[in-house]
Amino acid sequence: MPSLADVRAEALGCQRCPLARGRTQVVFGEGDPEADLMIVGEGPGHDEDVQGRPFVGRSGKLLDRLLLEEIGIPRSAVYIANVVKCRPPNNRDPQPAEIEACRPWLEAQVELIRPKVVLTLGNFSTKLLLDTTDGIGKTRGRVYQWGRTGAQLVPTFHPAAALRGGGAVLAGMRADFVRAKEALAAVVP
Ligand code: URA
Repeated sequence: MPSLADVRAEALGCQRCPLARGRTQVVFGEGDPEADLMIVGEGPGHDEDVQGRPFVGRSGKLLDRLLLEEIGIPRSAVYIANVVKCRPPNNRDPQPAEIEACRPWLEAQVELIRPKVVLTLGNFSTKLLLDTTDGIGKTRGRVYQWGRTGAQLVPTFHPAAALRGGGAVLAGMRADFVRAKEALAAVVP
């Protein structure tokens, strides 16, 4: 079985979809490879594309704050990845073929990290990992048994939605982060 470092090294040269042509760099993901909590977003934006790291822009600042305030952990204690590893042009939505082409990287990350709890941010990661067409408004608010390893999945809004949408979305996110904290407390000795 390859290590996470092996998979990362291979992904950095990925040419599996047209997003490869427009990227500055592949944003593979980062964090504690032994993390109990894995966070999955949508795809890199401008700041992430430039820095090669996930969630380093405004959405990332909010994510970091919610992790600390609601779960009590710093981002260094979790693993953060995205559905697509390369920035879609002008931050457009990732297309189904791009998501499919990128999927093996995310699956390898999940397989190697084996998180106990997965927090999906927004529609793309939630739909992909729960294998549903239901949107985040319908799926969030509960905890799902997920995957072959008996992990739990907690869907929540994307931080960008809270930055756009204000109080109610942010309150929903806070409640979902508390759900993730409780799920972690139930499975982590
Ligand atoms: N939004 C995402 O979905 N992922 C990032 O890494 C940054 C912003």
